[in-house]
Amino acid sequence: TTKSLWQRYRSIPIVYRIGAAFVLGSIVGLLVGEPATTLQPLGDVFVRLLSMIVVPIVIFTLLMGIRRISPGTLGRIGGQVVGLYAVMSAIAVFIGLGVANLVNPGTGLTLAENVAFEPAETPDFVEVLVGIVPENPIGAMAEGDVLATIFFVIVFGIALLMLQETAEDEAVQRGVESIFDIVEAGTEALFTIVWGVMEYGVIGVFALMAAVFGEAGADALVPFAMLIGALTAAILLHIGVVYLGALVFVLTRQSPVAFLTGSKDAIVTALSIRSSSGTLPVTMANADDNLRIDESVYGFSLPLGATINMDGTAMYQGVVAIFAANLVGVQLSIVEQVTVVLIAVLASIGAGGVPGTGLIMLTLVLTQLGLPLEVVGFVAGVDPILDRLRTMTNVTGDLAVTTVVAHWNDAIDFSGGTWADPTRGLE
Ligand code: ASP
Repeated sequence: TTKSLWQRYRSIPIVYRIGAAFVLGSIVGLLVGEPATTLQPLGDVFVRLLSMIVVPIVIFTLLMGIRRISPGTLGRIGGQVVGLYAVMSAIAVFIGLGVANLVNPGTGLTLAENVAFEPAETPDFVEVLVGIVPENPIGAMAEGDVLATIFFVIVFGIALLMLQETAEDEAVQRGVESIFDIVEAGTEALFTIVWGVMEYGVIGVFALMAAVFGEAGADALVPFAMLIGALTAAILLHIGVVYLGALVFVLTRQSPVAFLTGSKDAIVTALSIRSSSGTLPVTMANADDNLRIDESVYGFSLPLGATINMDGTAMYQGVVAIFAANLVGVQLSIVEQVTVVLIAVLASIGAGGVPGTGLIMLTLVLTQLGLPLEVVGFVAGVDPILDRLRTMTNVTGDLAVTTVVAHWNDAIDFSGGTWADPTRGLE
């Protein structure tokens, strides 16, 4: 009967259903070609559904986290998170440069057919820092400015905590409690929405992939196979050695398999929608349900990471810098390559977690090195693929750092979730 078919479908873990949609959509796009792009709106709806939850979930989970900790702890955890994020991003660029120097993508190609490209204004780093303080918190929320929203919510949350300790007036005390209670219920409701959105994701991801391959076709990817290969190799190295080896196995003393199993939904979503901010609700759900991390850590570290921690994006700057140098036949000096590390880390901090920002940040790196900006247009053709890989790395990095910091602060339950049973947590 229809009902039992539906139930059987629902009993397949969501990550596999979305994975299947990813592969099937790609195949359909390649077979059907151009007409498959008409499916794009179905994919856009999925992306919009996710972005719909981003701002509320940042506000609610951050407040939930603040409720649990003292302002002092927030400072310590914040320092650990930001410090690790910066170090990981720098390591990522070094690995990217190393692998790209070995593979040398771009040799044998010439910069002949330049794609016209209008580089967007790259924000000044100081401007980025100043912009963290919102002129108007409602405006920041309305515009989806995550950094500015985080800033306001932290300030507001700390003020609530201080009131709770000092207010003489009972009504104020009760009011603070009520706000926190409402936030708790709101958080639950938002996570319920996340899983509903993921159900629709099966259709959304199918449509997105069909549209991408319907547009580009298989041939479009061939000249850039080396570039894609180099970035993939660097990413696998970074995830394998740094995240799974150093962060999860050595520093946290936990199973890399359990970590990957617990992070699967976030990884697949990042690969599908190319946005760390868009994936944030799923990343948070994985941190909560599967990795059993306390909101006090992930409610702060994950929204922040989705905006400032972009190891894949930073690494990509390094790989493409080598690619660009090879296209014009120059060799980058060690000093120039170290410069790439610095700019790449700063550029990745300034870049928002939305599709394609890494490509725009590339203009900063190329300009600094005196390499032709046309490369940006050149690379744009395969960016839908590179962006997927970057975003997946960015999100995995957020979760890996969050896991270590949670472990350092006793804010993770290793007896539950996928830690206890690596086969669980697929849904
Ligand atoms: N799409 C990436 C992200 O959201 C950013 C980038 O373009 O590199 O993490």
